[in-house]
Amino acid sequence: MSFTSEINRRRTFGIIAHPDAGKTTLTEKLLLFGGAIQEAGAVKSNKIKKGATSDFMEIERQRGISVATSVLAFEYEGIKINILDTPGHKDFAEDTFRTLTAVDSVIVVVDVAKGVEEQTEKLVEVCRMRNIPMIVFINKLDREGKDAFDLLDEVEQKLGLTVVPMSFPIGMGYDFKGIYNLWEKNINLFSGSSRKNIEETVEISDLESKKIDELIGEKAAKTLREEIELVEGIYPEFDRDAYLEGKQQPVFFGSALNNFGVRELLDCFIEIAPKPRPKQSEERLVKPDEKNFTGFVFKIHANMDPNHRDRLAFVKIVSGIFERNKPYLHVRNNKKMKFSSPNAFFAEKKEIVDISYPGDIVGLHDTGNFKIGDTLTEGENINYRGVPSFSPEHFRYINNADPLKSKQLYKGIDQLMDEGVAQLFTLELNGRKVIGTVGALQYEVIQYRLEHEYGAKCTYENLNVHKACWVEANDVKSEEFKEFLRVKQRYIAKDKQDQLVFLADSPFSLQMTQQKYPNIKFHYTSEF
Ligand code: GDP
Repeated sequence: MSFTSEINRRRTFGIIAHPDAGKTTLTEKLLLFGGAIQEAGAVKSNKIKKGATSDFMEIERQRGISVATSVLAFEYEGIKINILDTPGHKDFAEDTFRTLTAVDSVIVVVDVAKGVEEQTEKLVEVCRMRNIPMIVFINKLDREGKDAFDLLDEVEQKLGLTVVPMSFPIGMGYDFKGIYNLWEKNINLFSGSSRKNIEETVEISDLESKKIDELIGEKAAKTLREEIELVEGIYPEFDRDAYLEGKQQPVFFGSALNNFGVRELLDCFIEIAPKPRPKQSEERLVKPDEKNFTGFVFKIHANMDPNHRDRLAFVKIVSGIFERNKPYLHVRNNKKMKFSSPNAFFAEKKEIVDISYPGDIVGLHDTGNFKIGDTLTEGENINYRGVPSFSPEHFRYINNADPLKSKQLYKGIDQLMDEGVAQLFTLELNGRKVIGTVGALQYEVIQYRLEHEYGAKCTYENLNVHKACWVEANDVKSEEFKEFLRVKQRYIAKDKQDQLVFLADSPFSLQMTQQKYPNIKFHYTSEF
């Protein structure tokens, strides 16, 4: 197969959802279609169960699972599909944000009863900012849920999307009869009695067909006709370019658990979803079909095996062909590196691969050379736009609890931060180190890993910080900026990239500071 056809047949995407919306169930059903797994239950949920906070083994176990499910690849109808795992748990939101830099599109799962939930809102906002094409799957139609039109409104308003229904439910919950497929112009009947992977597809030439009345009853048929008329009146027609530009989002209804409406989603997905897209580097736009290999690290995972304390760096291939044992330039370190055992990922296993194509993910064994956002090339000096850091929600001082192990402690902190477990801020005033995290869970993970992987001990101390704001001054030589640095001395720190950060202790003090220093900008993310 030619290089171009290899690129064209790849679809790399993520499924985003609030926990419990049905991401794992949907993933599993997609894999079943691809023949990648034989039975339901094969995909382990990477969910951090409630109460796991105090159970280190549980955390470790869960993290182990998430290595296995980091990338799930399978083939369907000649298309190579790569699903990238995006944890729904809010403590791991950073991980998901970073993974979103490596997907070409996403599927958003929404629970029909709960509607749009908090995590979904946050993640979709990131996708919207980056114009990532999105398809929405409204799940659990077999349950009593919200009215379809209300849900579509909610998706538009809360998520800021422009929806185009591609299918529409016939009834819901107990009365759920099936789905009218606007895309394929047919009706899928839900066999409510067995509720097990049974569906009957009936082609419908037009909505007036008497066959519909026979299939679902006159009353339901009348309602359906009215509703579809409304749908066609209210919503725009599907426009693939608008979808690809992130301006329009197709919506499907279904039930992942019952494997209902999933095939329609998948068939439409492989037809409309983007093949690997060009990516902006700081220097230029890089196209997938360029001859030379380029890629970037979007995730680093520590090895769970205590005998092999190496890490696996996940690289998304942006252009060219990645080859085993070929020397590549690690741009940040300006160093050539060769990889003798790059991993490719399949549904339930990883394997050493000789070559990989744009859109694919390779896992590279690493002993501490990589950090998130690093670029690999065949020699060209380009840097893929960094993965932004967001202001953490929690802040604590980290102290060394074993003076004899300070070297180990600093090495451990350094590497864990490179992996993106948390963010490190060093106070300008006294050099004390502050760890910022999205969730409280990370503090326990860090403490545990420092001890078990680096032989170092740490303690934490509370610190009252509301937000970390990256500081941008119009003029660093101005009196205003100098005064700010002097007056706010106690609250000023540097992040790992040596960027200046203001640790505001309350929303009020942040507001006062903003007012007092109008020529200084305070950003909630490191990318501005
Ligand atoms: P995740 O947290 O988004 O990965 O959600 P899961 O896939 O683990 O699903 C959460 C729960 O919802 C599980 O108990 C699933 O069995 C259930 N579930 C998923 N899809 C459906 C569905 O279509 N209908 C019903 N009734 N339950 C579902």
